[in-house]
Amino acid sequence: MPDVRIKTPNLDDIFEKWKQRAVRQDRKRIEKQFGTKGALFSLDAISAAEYVKDTLKEAAIYFAVKKTLGAVPKGKDENTVLAPRVGRETYYSFKGAGKINKENWKDDEKVPMYQSIQAVSCKTCKGKGYTDDKCKTCKGTGKIEENLMVLVGEEQKKEKKLFSYPCAACYGTGNKREQCKECGGHKNLYKYEILPVPFQTVVTGVPILHSSAQTKYEKEIGEDLHKMIEEVEGIRFNEFKELESKVEASLGYMNKNIKKTISAAASDHKTYQKDKDSQITTQIYLFPMIQMFCETKKGSKFEIYSLGSGNKFMIYSNF
Ligand SMILES: [Zn+2]
Ligand SMILES: [Zn+2]
Repeated sequence: MPDVRIKTPNLDDIFEKWKQRAVRQDRKRIEKQFGTKGALFSLDAISAAEYVKDTLKEAAIYFAVKKTLGAVPKGKDENTVLAPRVGRETYYSFKGAGKINKENWKDDEKVPMYQSIQAVSCKTCKGKGYTDDKCKTCKGTGKIEENLMVLVGEEQKKEKKLFSYPCAACYGTGNKREQCKECGGHKNLYKYEILPVPFQTVVTGVPILHSSAQTKYEKEIGEDLHKMIEEVEGIRFNEFKELESKVEASLGYMNKNIKKTISAAASDHKTYQKDKDSQITTQIYLFPMIQMFCETKKGSKFEIYSLGSGNKFMIYSNF
């Protein structure tokens, strides 16, 4: 259980670390920003006391997440349509195309696949395209019957004689073919599947940093911290509940922004816990964070941040 108060780094130590690094990276720029014309340049003359205008004591919370990018929900949908409607859909094909980079993909994550188009024999007409019904004109007999009046002999006795001829409506078959209403006479319906695009799945480690400092460099600081997390001392917690109860005692200071930051980080943490494509891979780290507002001799403003304890801390600067 971490009960120990973590010692924040000394301001001069932070400034010194920044200065050494800045000189290594670009000595000319340091000389230009802090030097005096005509005077011999001295690195020792660049002090925190002179160039740090304001300092804020803040806090940062860090954890790392392993994210699976490109994962698509499983399962498939399918559509069954009339033949003339097949052409109204746009199809996709990934045969031989390899895996797709999700970042370049602008369409839906599930799409109608060309290779899945398939004829399904119509059940209503058993794939014939029509149904056989009794001819209504001849009532299924195939013939029309009429009585002829025949006058027989001298007496001209009236006699009725049956006369029949083939029904014209069914050509004498007694059956009438009707276009199947289900398949529209096309014998088949057509089925196609709407399947996930075969994206590449990439597992990447993502740093999650929440800081109470009002900074636009949070993302960059988080990435730097992610690379050197072993070299920076913070206090580790398994749960936010524990962190919340010990934060003030651990840091030795507290403010409204730190409180807000913790609750934002906690809700972020919860979201990652629920996300099936993510896995939280570290404990929750609490770091003291110092934000220093500086100004060079030439009047250029810049900021220095430190994260970690007096023993082990990292710095970030936009200088
Ligand atoms: Zn049919
Ligand atoms: Zn008929």
